[in-house]
Amino acid sequence: MQAPTLRLDVVSLAPEALTPLLELGVIGRAFKAGIAELHLHNPRDYATDRYRKVDDEPYGGGAGMVLKPEPVFAAMEAIPVLPRRRVLLMSPQGQPLGQADLRRWAQDNDQLVFLCGHYEGFDERIRTLADEEVSIGDFVLTGGELPAAVIINGVVRLRPGTVGTEACLEEESHSSLLLEHPHYTRPAEFRGMAVPEVLRSGDHGAIARWRLQQQQQRTQARRPDLYARWQAAQPPGS
Ligand code: SAM
Repeated sequence: MQAPTLRLDVVSLAPEALTPLLELGVIGRAFKAGIAELHLHNPRDYATDRYRKVDDEPYGGGAGMVLKPEPVFAAMEAIPVLPRRRVLLMSPQGQPLGQADLRRWAQDNDQLVFLCGHYEGFDERIRTLADEEVSIGDFVLTGGELPAAVIINGVVRLRPGTVGTEACLEEESHSSLLLEHPHYTRPAEFRGMAVPEVLRSGDHGAIARWRLQQQQQRTQARRPDLYARWQAAQPPGS
């Protein structure tokens, strides 16, 4: 049975920042195939005053403007609510994004709503609309559109039918605690750099052992934190 279409709603003052996703290679094809659909909502369209104001000065003073609650609440209330929905608020103060989150949303939800901030951020009451606050890293961007696009890309890619073979998704980095092993393709030698002999041997057992060893070495060198977790998860004596 085909999975239901994943409905993606983005509430943003710059919703056009999301439309390139519709043309983006594998992800663009998933949208065209109906695996996901994108709905854009601009709080400015819900502002009721003469100037369609969406921001205001912070109470108590301070630098920058704050996103007003009324237009954001109105935009949210105009979005249909599907049963398996999750509202994600983009924020550098949120929980750090990981592959496990993308997997969880891809599996458990048929609607994801993204609240994108701007300026100094949100009026605090907007936070009550969200199920989760998500950060894509310990740095600050000007708006939540790129973080939303990052999450949409990562989630749509995990929906059934987007990526050719399930094995691609299972073997890659962050599907387990080890990073992926190196890959090579033809030619066997390029500018003095040769493809490791074992990969050309046809010995599948030896190839599997080499790949696991490479995964361990790579993870230990690049991400000692993940390697320590992987080691701790190994059965005793292995
Ligand atoms: N003043 C806010 C603070 O210190 O937490 C930062 C506001 S930031 C300039 C504007 C908006 O960009 C945020 O409300 C959020 O939606 C988005 N944003 C910026 N950096 C982000 C990050 N690392 N992860 C997720 N969203 C981010």
